[in-house]
Amino acid sequence: MVRYAIILIGPPGSGKGTQAEMLAERLGFFHWSSSNTVKHWMTKHPDHPLVKKSMENYAKGGLFEPELMAHVVEQESEQILKKHKGIIYDGSPRTLPELHEAWPFWKKTFGKNNILVINLKLELENAQERLTKRLICEFDHPYIRGEGGLVVGSICPKDGTKLKLRDLDNPEVIKVRFEEFKKQTIPTLEFLRHQTSVLDVDASKAIAKVFEDVINKLTPHLKALKNAKNKKT
Ligand SMILES: [Zn+2]
Repeated sequence: MVRYAIILIGPPGSGKGTQAEMLAERLGFFHWSSSNTVKHWMTKHPDHPLVKKSMENYAKGGLFEPELMAHVVEQESEQILKKHKGIIYDGSPRTLPELHEAWPFWKKTFGKNNILVINLKLELENAQERLTKRLICEFDHPYIRGEGGLVVGSICPKDGTKLKLRDLDNPEVIKVRFEEFKKQTIPTLEFLRHQTSVLDVDASKAIAKVFEDVINKLTPHLKALKNAKNKKT
């Protein structure tokens, strides 16, 4: 039976999480949100040697072990694939060492041709413009500055708390996150381009348009999925 892996790669502000969620719903695949899945696995296996080692590194300001990510991918993906035809990986791999660790499992489980990569392309200036428009309330409800006259200090209609910018969304922090993405994650794209199909999508457009482009580029590759074709939102 054909199983698909769709790997989403994109910098901060590219809408990666949103696109992953929409794709998962459209295709009936599982949405793998790396931080959630890995953290959940770690709380279930606190005594695993890789978890202990990663927590020590993390406390010192380092990244989680690449082996831990690969191990969680392997363990969890096998369970997920008992119930789903595919997995949308959002946030894994983040680094080349992670990808090197996980690649043999991915290749064996899905087959090279059934691993598809979506590269959500966005310039730093677009990300800064987009993210600095984002307002959140005390309970993280998201809003867009300017829409409906909302400004910093407006009141959330749902709970009455004040809207503010996220600390992560100031232009300088976005620049640092972008540079981190270029250094850590862009090398995974280079590796993946040599292995399988990488579909480049312009992520500067509106969410619905980006999603349409993603679907149009993916569809010819998802031959075994009849229901992925000719559906319009
Ligand atoms: Zn709120």
